[in-house]
Amino acid sequence: MFPTLDKKAMERLRRFGEAKTYAAGHPVFRAGEVTPGLIAVLSGKIEVTQRRGHDRAESIVTHGPGQFAGELAQLSARPSLVDADVLEPVDAIVIPTTRLQDLMVQEADLGEQIMRALILRRVRLLEGNIGGPVIIGHPNQTDVLRLQGFLARSGQPHRVLDCDKDPCARALVERFKFDPHHLPIVLCPNGKLLRNPGDRELARCLGLVTPINPEKIYDVAIVGAGPAGLAAAVYAGSEGLSAIVLDCRAFGGQALRHASKITLAFLQASQVLRSWREPTIRHKNSGWKWPFLTKQSG
Ligand SMILES: Cc1cc2nc3c(=O)[nH]c(=O)nc-3n(C[C@H](O)[C@H](O)[C@H](O)COP(=O)(O)OP(=O)(O)OC[C@H]3O[C@@H](n4cnc5c(N)ncnc54)[C@H](O)[C@@H]3O)c2cc1C
Repeated sequence: MFPTLDKKAMERLRRFGEAKTYAAGHPVFRAGEVTPGLIAVLSGKIEVTQRRGHDRAESIVTHGPGQFAGELAQLSARPSLVDADVLEPVDAIVIPTTRLQDLMVQEADLGEQIMRALILRRVRLLEGNIGGPVIIGHPNQTDVLRLQGFLARSGQPHRVLDCDKDPCARALVERFKFDPHHLPIVLCPNGKLLRNPGDRELARCLGLVTPINPEKIYDVAIVGAGPAGLAAAVYAGSEGLSAIVLDCRAFGGQALRHASKITLAFLQASQVLRSWREPTIRHKNSGWKWPFLTKQSG
């Protein structure tokens, strides 16, 4: 989950990113904000933390030389679920999302190692319900279950606080005088507070959906992002066609409803593949493998 790359591997990363230095105490990225990309540490230390309550931060890991900060969010330019700060002055290579996708293809073995770490990190966040939004309401309320289902299908860690039993949740509801019909309320990692949001409103707040460029014309539009839709998108890409995949709920279809956490993370990684540029997917001899797909189907 936290591999240390040797000097040769770090050298291979250089051409995909930009050198950057961070002073001690500098925030590298913040939960709820889109990060600059994957951050490979050449020297110094970066501490990754999760938020507990308003002012309490719990350490998850400290990255030193040869290690890299990031998880699945960095693969698709989605907001981070955790915070990262500089413990000791850092020299780093910052690899933005598009270049990270290039790296996965052009440096297949290194890409596989990084992809594996990114998936396992998301699995750990999911298992520990670390990061992500907090739903405050009655646990058996229909809308709480709906939001939980949506977040689970979207591979998003989250927590539910019972507004009758949890003192913090109760205080929040009382202090801000929420009417019962406002429940559940959702606290997003970017600090926004939503009152009984629909799935789409929540998805937008979490950065799960981004605007579609109206200028871009696709060769194929695929409606439904279950296994069939995702496979169609990959094959469209392999034929050199640009494809857009649309879903009214979440990626993964029925397969995600009863999926394990590792499958969830895998499928979330596969969502990223849909947006990879066509020449990348088309180049069948590029060395790119589908390590996690073949494992899952085995
Ligand atoms: C409990 C359970 C266990 C299963 N176990 C297995 C198993 O072990 N092995 C196996 O091979 N198969 C299993 N299956 C079956 C497998 O999940 C399905 O065969 C597979 O998901 C079908 O894929 P699909 O892409 O055709 O459709 P779906 O998975 O149904 O995906 C369709 C997608 O289209 C979206 N959609 C629908 N209408 C619209 C619209 N109007 N606009 C936008 N989007 C839309 C939906 O939200 C959904 O995401 C299982 C299914 C279930 C329910």
